[in-house]
Amino acid sequence: MEPRPEVVAALIQKVLEELTAGGAGRAEGDGLYPTVNDAVEAGLDAQKKLIGMSLERRKDIIASIRNNVLAVNEELSAMAVEETRLGRFEDKVRENILCATRTPGVEDIEPRALSGDHGLMLLEYAPVGLIGSLTPITNPTGTLINNSIGMIAAGNAVVFNAHPSAKGTSTRVLQVIHKAIVDAGGPVGLVSSVRDPNLETAKQVIEHPKINMLVATGGRPIVNIVLRSGKKAIGAGAGNPPVLVDETATIRKAAQCIASGASINNGIFCTCEKEVIVVQEVADSLIKFMQETGRVYLLSPEEAEKVTKLVVTPDRHINGAYIGKNVQVILHDVGIEIGEEYRLAIFEAEPDHPLVWLEQMMPILPVVRVKDVKEGIEFAVKVEQANRHTAIMHSNHVEHMTAFARAIQTTIFVKNGPSYAGIGLGGEGHTSFTIAGPTGEGLTSARTFTRQRRCTLVESFRII
Ligand code: NAD
Repeated sequence: MEPRPEVVAALIQKVLEELTAGGAGRAEGDGLYPTVNDAVEAGLDAQKKLIGMSLERRKDIIASIRNNVLAVNEELSAMAVEETRLGRFEDKVRENILCATRTPGVEDIEPRALSGDHGLMLLEYAPVGLIGSLTPITNPTGTLINNSIGMIAAGNAVVFNAHPSAKGTSTRVLQVIHKAIVDAGGPVGLVSSVRDPNLETAKQVIEHPKINMLVATGGRPIVNIVLRSGKKAIGAGAGNPPVLVDETATIRKAAQCIASGASINNGIFCTCEKEVIVVQEVADSLIKFMQETGRVYLLSPEEAEKVTKLVVTPDRHINGAYIGKNVQVILHDVGIEIGEEYRLAIFEAEPDHPLVWLEQMMPILPVVRVKDVKEGIEFAVKVEQANRHTAIMHSNHVEHMTAFARAIQTTIFVKNGPSYAGIGLGGEGHTSFTIAGPTGEGLTSARTFTRQRRCTLVESFRII
């Protein structure tokens, strides 16, 4: 059940007041430090202690993080929506469950062994040491939970620098994770942050000589910044995922999947369908079936024009005021009132419409008709803009699916399901809220946050 708004607002206020008060009177060690340097020193000390502990203890720490986060999931989810004004409570709850339960732990760094004529080779996934992680406003809880589990499972410590506009919520989840670690016998400071994360402290994290690896989850500019840092960097950047529907698709199912995938969390997941590309022959049925879900409102051309003027600025940028808002809020501001049951508004768009090309992150979805699947594939590749992020296809034609997957080269390619199946929600595989397309690690997990070490034993231990 969603906590009452006044309770949530009071929680955020309390966290922010504690932050500005500098944590006076606080019990020693809650993961928060006055300066980046203090957080780094605590992290280095904690990482040394962690690698001195048994793997069983490390598993206990991970289990404790999972349990403690789930225990306060509703509070965290409500805080995220209240503070950032982005997304939907029930979807934030799903996001946190997904991150707490489907992020791989220590099993992900199982070593590999090879025995042959010359003996034995052992490959182990060793910690990188101290990681600096910059987290986005869109997932102020999920990314922290997901990164903490993966990075600690691999034997690392992490200094977070959350998005300043989500610092109350991100600080709260960091405190929950920190307490879970300490309660399970783990070291103080294994996850840490400066008390007041901002762009200046982000810069200090990026440049700190004792931080071995950087992980940036956000837009293209911050990914480029960490890539220029001279450190090992993992960049999880923006996407603009196209969904392509061909004439062989099961159209009613495609319509339901797109309605659900594009509207989850009001479109703020980087994986959400951001434009529909549909083969002309089935376009009318797709739109009709989307309307029949009872959750999708079809904008008339005049209404679509008004909405576009509202959410796209004259210089062709997204108007940030409408990112992550409920569809009712957006439509209300152009004089359209719709019922609470709606989750998404769609409209027919020309190929050069700005919302086809911009990452809108709101429940307004353009639908573009194409002549055939070949034209659809070519167009989808263009609108994905080499983000290497996510693409979705609805088709029952194996060659069409293969051709699209080969052409688009995205990190995630979902066939015949909603986009979120690609991050493990109703689809196979682990979850990640740091999907590293630009740097190629894919859906990050513990193994991503390691360096490989080889041990060779010559002429022995081949026992067959
Ligand atoms: P953002 O790039 O504005 O911020 C991300 C992080 O980088 C924040 O912590 C921010 O404080 C920091 N940052 C941004 N500019 C900086 C600068 N110049 N110097 C230092 N630090 C800086 O992104 P956002 O608005 O928080 O998040 C939304 C974006 O993130 C979308 O584009 C979305 O697609 C993307 N995203 C990607 C993934 C993924 O896994 N690939 C996951 C979630 C979100």
